[in-house]
Amino acid sequence: MHNHDTYDATLAAFRRCYGRAPEVVAYAPGRVEVLGNHTDYNEGYVLSAAIDSGTFFAVARTDAPDCRLTAGDLMREVRFPVDRPEPRRDDGWANYCLGVLAGLRRHDAVRSGFDALFLGNIPLGSGLSSSAALEVSTGLALARLYEIEIDALSLARIGQRAEHLYAGVKCGLLDQISVLFGRQDMLVHTDFRTLDVRTVPLGREIALLICNTHVKHALVDGEYNRRRADCELAAAHFSRVLPHPVTALRDVTWTEWEQQRQGLDERAARRAAHIIGENERVLEGVHCLAARDLAGFGQLMFASHDSSRNYFENSTPELDHLVDAARGIPGVLGARLTGGGFGGSVAALTRLDAAAAAGQALAAAYAARFGDPCEVRTICPSDGARIVMPARQ
Ligand code: ADP
Ligand code: MG
Repeated sequence: MHNHDTYDATLAAFRRCYGRAPEVVAYAPGRVEVLGNHTDYNEGYVLSAAIDSGTFFAVARTDAPDCRLTAGDLMREVRFPVDRPEPRRDDGWANYCLGVLAGLRRHDAVRSGFDALFLGNIPLGSGLSSSAALEVSTGLALARLYEIEIDALSLARIGQRAEHLYAGVKCGLLDQISVLFGRQDMLVHTDFRTLDVRTVPLGREIALLICNTHVKHALVDGEYNRRRADCELAAAHFSRVLPHPVTALRDVTWTEWEQQRQGLDERAARRAAHIIGENERVLEGVHCLAARDLAGFGQLMFASHDSSRNYFENSTPELDHLVDAARGIPGVLGARLTGGGFGGSVAALTRLDAAAAAGQALAAAYAARFGDPCEVRTICPSDGARIVMPARQ
């Protein structure tokens, strides 16, 4: 469903559920990581984009302190008092909204209750961050409803806290920042040490193909935590042997890794090589975009995938096969796994006029090896989260 249809469906469903129109509707898109893998928790750099599908959150105040919250896609409703947004075991989807409400309440008093309903068109759990879209659309809508002044970074943190405390996912800030700061035809360049966020033009003639393998390996959380621990071990090693301060792998250059890794556990050294290489590739990628060198940018994406495969070992045969196939498809500039890895999706950068044929070629290459075709979506970097109702004057 396209965004305008989803918006209309949100208004219709709200009216059906609550017998009136909403006062506020907010929209937040999903996101895709384009370059910079596992760098956010190493205080490094990421290039990402907000995508062109997302979630609409519609809300109106009530006179009572009670709230009703409906997941429009599931047609499930939960009720809770506005001053006690506690995590729930059933209806886990509600936790993202409850966590955000709890975060907003720390900023300001929220007294009256509300009726709310949300509806989205991002596939859930496919690595495009439907969870951040839900948190951010909830946060924007409720902040407007209760007239709470809040800047985008604070809202991003509230979303992250909701994931940590209410959904039990220890995510970084990448998802929420991408969702809030995305712009049409732009990539979001974030420095996760300073939280300085900029946008850099990608260009209108370029699209991303997201190829979802629907493969998710077991023990993903354990692998993720082990990667984090190895990165910390490596940072501690370099802080001992280098003459300058090192608080995270962000502070280590490739040359320093080459010259000073003796004494570091072999596996941790390879993990560090990925992070250090990724940080350098993001900065190089920003230069490529400034010079309109999209072929060069694409090569960095291929190099990023090789690094995941060889150093970080967070790829899979399915993802590797897609990236290998992408190298030979006309119009494809680069491809790499996107997000945490150990399954999930590949993002391929393509010229817009070649996107449809390239997508078919990727799906066919996948089917030739694994039987079923992978799911391919064409996305264009798009504007980030915003209030859509009331419309801006
Ligand atoms: P991802 O963020 O990659 O899509 P997550 O597992 O982090 O995957 O988040 C998916 C969860 O977010 C869903 O299982 C559901 O609980 C919740 N969610 C997000 N959007 C919606 C929606 N439109 N309707 C219902 N639940 C949603
Ligand atoms: Mg998520």
